[in-house]
Amino acid sequence: MRHVIALDVGGTGMKAALVGADGTLLHEARRATGRDRGADAVVASILDFAADLRAHGQAHLGRPAEAAGLAVPGIVDAERGIAVYAANLGWRDVPLRGLLAERLGGVPVALGHDVRTGGLAEGRIGAGRGADRFLFVPLGTGIAGAIGIDGTIEAGAHGCAGEIGHVVVRPGGPECGCGRRGCLETLASASAVTRAWAAASGDPGADAADCAKAVESGDPAALRVWQDAVDALADGLVTALTLLDPRTLIIGGGLAEAGETLFTPLRAAVEERVTFQQLPDIVPAALGDTAGCLGAGLLAWDLLTEVTA
Ligand SMILES: [Zn+2]
Repeated sequence: MRHVIALDVGGTGMKAALVGADGTLLHEARRATGRDRGADAVVASILDFAADLRAHGQAHLGRPAEAAGLAVPGIVDAERGIAVYAANLGWRDVPLRGLLAERLGGVPVALGHDVRTGGLAEGRIGAGRGADRFLFVPLGTGIAGAIGIDGTIEAGAHGCAGEIGHVVVRPGGPECGCGRRGCLETLASASAVTRAWAAASGDPGADAADCAKAVESGDPAALRVWQDAVDALADGLVTALTLLDPRTLIIGGGLAEAGETLFTPLRAAVEERVTFQQLPDIVPAALGDTAGCLGAGLLAWDLLTEVTA
């Protein structure tokens, strides 16, 4: 059966699948990145994993994969196929697309940024299915974004479009890893809410999910922490929707798992802030942590469609 390899590389783990032409997952696997052994070891793990997936296809699906899609964190130059920078993996200028193509016997390979690749899947086959213009914003350790236009993701001139997490929403606010202060991700990421709630509750082990539970039980301190994050998030999102005018705004990541505890006040806070802008549908992501892998599969199939078109 015709299929492609889809690989999503995270900080500590990799998710992979063999994906059929209709998007069916024919085989799924997970493996550690081995990042404790250094940047080169991670690259070797990826190449070995892909080679094993190719062998699996050959053995169980009657033929090897025809293409591969690879989603990686950090800064990605998709055009040139280079993983430019990834702090958590220790990468600088790794020519991943070429390395992977070589290892897989010369099949076409697409390299994508993890969040934009996940956004591609959410937009085409997940929560944004059918939306011509969408914005995908996962609230995790940090906050990133994927700008969806007619079924593809706008990467920008330098591969950095969509980084809404570094829009300053509270000038002079908390220090951000990017070097500025008051960036959205220092206030409204799952990590930011975890930090704020650990401090406010006096429990150093408390996290964002605990904060959401405390909000649900009406704890006033939790409500304050939560509303601060929601307000910051709404400020950032209104900036984005003023620029992009999306039809659908897809919110994912760990914080979105709070469901209506997040979405009800968030919709209200966004609505409060818009004046002339049209309100988008604000919906939870649908694909969870498989979005990156599914998106990598779409990138790979797109290569084959382009070739035959
Ligand atoms: Zn920043």
